[in-house]
Amino acid sequence: MSKVSGVVVVTGGASGIGLALVGGLLADGWKVLVMDLLPERVAAVEKEFQSPDPSRIRGVAVNVTDEAAVAAAIDRCEAEFGPVAGLVNSAGIAAVVPFLQTEATAFRKILDVNVIGSFIVAKAVSLKMKQRGTGAIVNISSVSGGRGSYGRTAYGASKGAIITMTRVMANELAEFGIRVNAIAPGPIDTPMVKAMHTQEARGQWNAAVPMHRYGAPEELCGTANWLLDSTKSSYVTGQIIAVDGGYDSS
Ligand code: NAD
Repeated sequence: MSKVSGVVVVTGGASGIGLALVGGLLADGWKVLVMDLLPERVAAVEKEFQSPDPSRIRGVAVNVTDEAAVAAAIDRCEAEFGPVAGLVNSAGIAAVVPFLQTEATAFRKILDVNVIGSFIVAKAVSLKMKQRGTGAIVNISSVSGGRGSYGRTAYGASKGAIITMTRVMANELAEFGIRVNAIAPGPIDTPMVKAMHTQEARGQWNAAVPMHRYGAPEELCGTANWLLDSTKSSYVTGQIIAVDGGYDSS
């Protein structure tokens, strides 16, 4: 039986990787607070995971770029649901646009959600975790954050920033008992990717990934749970772990 206890906040928990992690983390024994944009989608996730224990799932509709709303949601979570033991920063947006066609406004929006949004939620939970001297944060980067790829000027830059932010946070927060790591997924079959990858792009990714397939969102659950579980990964911090079918090593 799992020994995990406390709440894991999953941003972007109403779709794709975040949604898969909500199911995986509940199965591993965590309580989960889903934080996503639209109230109806958050409510649908709460409803989907009522069984077997409705007391372990909560949802809140919050834009992660809204610092006051995030702080209020974390305060309410701590008061009414339980202490925040973990965070997965999965909320994100993406676009494939060639460099010369990239607009500054679109670039700023991607940085705002992916980087500043992750920072805002991580800071809000870290302030609580610091009081208890324990906590684990998992940021979601991407293989595009390391080597980049065509059309990912803004997206790749945002995911590269997540890697650097993860290392700095790990360094600064270690003394408060807070571990910070990141997962860098390869191509994962989610609504984001279905909207973004053409058939031609799918063929190219399948050829480039040594395992010759896209990952399923559920294939991130083991890594996320392990990184969040301080009984298992207690001496692991500041790491960027690729879950990518071998792409980063190819
Ligand atoms: P997705 O579009 O299926 O899910 C993203 C979720 O984030 C959505 O529910 C969306 O509503 C939410 N969201 C977006 N902006 C938000 C905001 N401002 N506030 C709150 N919630 C917001 O995408 P996904 O593929 O599951 O991606 C999840 C994370 O994984 C993203 O950070 C993405 O960059 C990263 N990632 C995905 C892949 C992939 O291949 N799918 C690969 C590498 C990294």
